[in-house]
Amino acid sequence: MRIGQGYDVHKLVEGRELWLCGVKIEHRLGLLGHSDADVATHALCDALLGALALGDIGKHFPDTDPRYKGISSMRLLEHVMQLVRRAGYTLGNADVTIMAQQPKLAPHIEEMRGALAKAMGADINDISVKATTTERLGFEGREEGISSSAVVLLRRQEAFENI
Ligand code: MG
Repeated sequence: MRIGQGYDVHKLVEGRELWLCGVKIEHRLGLLGHSDADVATHALCDALLGALALGDIGKHFPDTDPRYKGISSMRLLEHVMQLVRRAGYTLGNADVTIMAQQPKLAPHIEEMRGALAKAMGADINDISVKATTTERLGFEGREEGISSSAVVLLRRQEAFENI
């Protein structure tokens, strides 16, 4: 088995859509970035890449590359999962945490889990998404940005099949 962790931050600004775990959320602010700036999916991609010591999403999808401008981060996640499978691994489970003061994310959690599971070709029971405020502390608390962290466990495919 291999374990990976990822972390990401994006700035909240006016005039951008808010995408988290592949779900568009109505909010007066959105995340700034070259792609759709889905901070939670970026943290998850980095956890998957980290588990295999394959670098990070900045290396695989540079923000200087016009191909990735405005791209859905679900496409990046699908690509990263291809790399995981090509390396001979399958997802054990993933656990994603989103740190945001606003908006309330609880009503969107199940849809987020479903969207991630679909993009990853995984069982929804192996995908956890959690959200927390930071009690108004720090940049998340001041609603200047949203951060996310993710942990994944990967299983070697052969070992998995031999069980
Ligand atoms: Mg990012």
